[in-house]
Amino acid sequence: MKTIGLLGGMSWESTAVYYQTLNRMARERLGGLHSAKCVIWSFDFAEIEAAQAAGDWGRATDMMIAAARNLERGGAECLVICTNTMHKMASELQAAVGIPLVHIADATAPAIKAAGSRAPLLLATRYTMEQDFYKGHLEKEHGITVRVPEADDREEVHRIIYEELCRGEVWADSKQTCLEIVEKEASKGADGVIFGCTEIGLLVKAEDFKVPAFDTTVLHAQAALEFALEA
Ligand code: GLU
Repeated sequence: MKTIGLLGGMSWESTAVYYQTLNRMARERLGGLHSAKCVIWSFDFAEIEAAQAAGDWGRATDMMIAAARNLERGGAECLVICTNTMHKMASELQAAVGIPLVHIADATAPAIKAAGSRAPLLLATRYTMEQDFYKGHLEKEHGITVRVPEADDREEVHRIIYEELCRGEVWADSKQTCLEIVEKEASKGADGVIFGCTEIGLLVKAEDFKVPAFDTTVLHAQAALEFALEA
């Protein structure tokens, strides 16, 4: 088994889900006392969020590169960025290390295709929903065109992520808000929903929706484990 390098702490609420998911899947696959070999770099998310909010993506990229190199030196044989948003600097990170990056969108695309979803709705941070690095990757690499919620709804999803989920707060009214946003977009043609933020699965589950749901956290962890178990 190869060692998985997790760039986490963005937020740790979702990194904990990655850690648990990887270990549970390793046990399911291998049985007995098997668990996933991991090295975790866990940021102080306040420092990352400050750089994001200031639009200082250069500083954020420098922090991510330094951490990725630490993981590589620590024995990681692949790199897993445990957040959709910070895939904004995925290519810079890949260029800075000698180990492969398991891209979260590449891990998610096959599930979208397998479900036959042609217009999935992306629930994510404002950066992921509004900038091109994620939507563009799905479009160019996988031919998947995603929809995003209306401006007010994007604002609200972004707020729920940073002010609630990343602080460990899970509220019923925020869940209701997400369900209503997906319902509204489904009535306009969305035929799937991408949990495009690694904390969204803390708030809603696939069973909550009539359309198929794609939880990037679980799909990404699955892809990382596949890589680790490849001969
Ligand atoms: N974990 C989130 C994501 O998947 C948001 C936190 C961050 O900005 O990294 O995008």
